Amino acid sequence: MLPHAIRKPELYSPHRSRRPLILTLDVHGQPHRWVTWQHAIFYYSKNLVAWDAGEHCFTFLGGTSRLTGSRSALTANSIIAIKGRALSARSLIQTPPLSNRELFHRDRHVCAYCGGEFSVHRLTRDHVLPVSQGGTDIWMNVVAACRSCNQRKAGRTPEQARMLLLYAPYVPNKAEYLILSNRNILADQMDFLARHLPAQSRWRQVAPA
Ligand SMILES: [Zn+2]
Repeated sequence: MLPHAIRKPELYSPHRSRRPLILTLDVHGQPHRWVTWQHAIFYYSKNLVAWDAGEHCFTFLGGTSRLTGSRSALTANSIIAIKGRALSARSLIQTPPLSNRELFHRDRHVCAYCGGEFSVHRLTRDHVLPVSQGGTDIWMNVVAACRSCNQRKAGRTPEQARMLLLYAPYVPNKAEYLILSNRNILADQMDFLARHLPAQSRWRQVAPA
């Protein structure tokens, strides 16, 4: 990490459309959530940023002062720790909400039965133990499956359908969920989150160590 003074800020105008999200941590460095740059600027202005850990600084240009004629500018780091109560252990082990988008991301868009890679539109949420046989809609019982595999499996377990599961489902942790839920992660943010991934995460294979 470079000292603050020699990091080169990148310029962002409030009118620019694609702005990165800022990764927030608790004071102990546990990943917390993504916030918008406006939210990050709010933390800075209220003196709530305990420390920063990113390699990127973003300078956001504001309006021009009528009194001085100078343009206001605020700088935010790509990874910031927020002062205040540390996150409770409960919030760190909180199960991320299950949605198709995050499920397909967790499974890297690979069908759990044929191993093919598919677009979101050709994937479905398969219940390993079918709902009709008492299976529930939880991370540990769902995998991504292509439409034809899901149809072939129908209301049967993999054993009943004689369809081998190519990988086992698992519950993503907070860091993995943060990776899954942001399409525009900066390299330093990805590096940081990759250090908090669960051992079985398939994202470990693509994330830099
Ligand atoms: Zn398939």
